[in-house]
Amino acid sequence: MNVIMKFGGTSVQDAEAMNRVVNIVRRQWADNPADLPPVVVVSAMSKVTDRLVETGRLAADGRGDAAEHIVADLLARHLGVTSTLVQGAALDELNAQLTSDFHALQTDVRLWAELHEVTPAAADTLQAMGELASSRIVAAAFRQQGVNAAWVDSRQVLVTDAEFSAAVPDMDATAERVKAIVAARTAAGEVPVMGGFIGATPAGVTTTLGRGGSDYSAAIFGACLDVDEIQIWTDVDGMLTADPRVVTNPVLVSELSFAEASELAYFGAKVLHPSTILPAVAKNIPVRILNSRRPEVRGTMITADGRGDRQTLTALACKRGVTVIDITSSRMLMAFGFLRRLFEVFERFKTSVDVVTTSEVSVSVTVDNTRRLDDILSNLRNFAEVSTESEMAIVCIVGENLRSDPTLFRRAVTSLDRIPLRLVSQAASRRNITFVLRDADVTSAMNLLHDQFFRAKVGA
Ligand code: ADP
Ligand code: ASP
Ligand code: MG
Repeated sequence: MNVIMKFGGTSVQDAEAMNRVVNIVRRQWADNPADLPPVVVVSAMSKVTDRLVETGRLAADGRGDAAEHIVADLLARHLGVTSTLVQGAALDELNAQLTSDFHALQTDVRLWAELHEVTPAAADTLQAMGELASSRIVAAAFRQQGVNAAWVDSRQVLVTDAEFSAAVPDMDATAERVKAIVAARTAAGEVPVMGGFIGATPAGVTTTLGRGGSDYSAAIFGACLDVDEIQIWTDVDGMLTADPRVVTNPVLVSELSFAEASELAYFGAKVLHPSTILPAVAKNIPVRILNSRRPEVRGTMITADGRGDRQTLTALACKRGVTVIDITSSRMLMAFGFLRRLFEVFERFKTSVDVVTTSEVSVSVTVDNTRRLDDILSNLRNFAEVSTESEMAIVCIVGENLRSDPTLFRRAVTSLDRIPLRLVSQAASRRNITFVLRDADVTSAMNLLHDQFFRAKVGA
């Protein structure tokens, strides 16, 4: 079985974690000796991207010293790891490379701070450093332990447009590069080790796919390589019935459909980047979520069909910090162009809408990205009355069998009877129902729903 294996930030957080990665990959290859070597995609070491984002913010504020300080800290953290994992000339070479990369970044950061500006392109170059560094280290760690691995610069492989911080891959161009660069390595018997999250425009300007985008990178490369399985190695056993930071005792969902996984990821199940499923669906490649700390656990298998057992819901998800926008127009009833006009405003300001509900004279939508909210509101006010409510949240119940079993919806609403629901919506797929409620109520709503649908399973 040919596989691509993606390891997230906590799975490469320190030397010990990176050693686990080497062992997991080595075992995968040893178990399938007739196959091509696995392709490995890694995230930045945990929290590194957050710190790089902070560096950019400080530089934009003109706080060059503080920004440079973080870069120096990050270099020290990476060098601390290399000395445990790599030895001799390989260590010297790796440390020299990392030092020169981080020093170059420091020079850039100083300049940006003087200018009080970090352009979107600069921010992506800055954030790319996390994956560039971690992937170089992991590749060296493999070689140190006798695994024939080659570092591959993802910026030469993943071709994207120039939408910085949310770059869109050009699948055809990327497929060609994957064939020329990555497949050439595996054909030569080498394990390619690549950074997730990052790519470049055709002109070679560094881009990123958006936070959490390493999963997406792995799926893109996996689809281009036509692998048999895309493995997402993380710090939980798989997709759980709810976010473990919100619900006590969620349980593992062992099988999921692509459609269910997409809905869960889109509505907040951070374990999978929402776009990950797209390339997998296109090539019908199963996606498996696994725990790098407990590699023996089977994890969650995501396929076109999903699970056979259809007793209850599949899982819950929630998305916090959402804003509801109510748009009211007494003329709406007569105006057939109203919705087009309304959504054009969101399109113009590149803001996607998550939940939509309408009545005769009003439309309510939710957005989680409020960067352009002021522009959106002032444009909407040209033709409607508009009000907003922030600190809201979306709670979403997902399951293929919501279509066939109407009692599930009734049970969900009944279990939330003490919680004010602001909006309720079921899309045509009838695979999910979303409730919009106050952010302050999310924890209780999620736990009530979880008790209702999954309590019997806890400890099972
Ligand atoms: P990685 O760095 O490996 O990409 P992430 O932090 O992006 O890991 O995603 C894993 C985290 O997703 C888990 O630690 C968990 O807190 C969170 N999470 C949210 N919802 C779910 C869910 N339904 N199932 C599993 N994990 C979830
Ligand atoms: N390092 C990036 C982030 O933290 C991408 C990823 O981890 O998937 O968002
Ligand atoms: Mg992630």
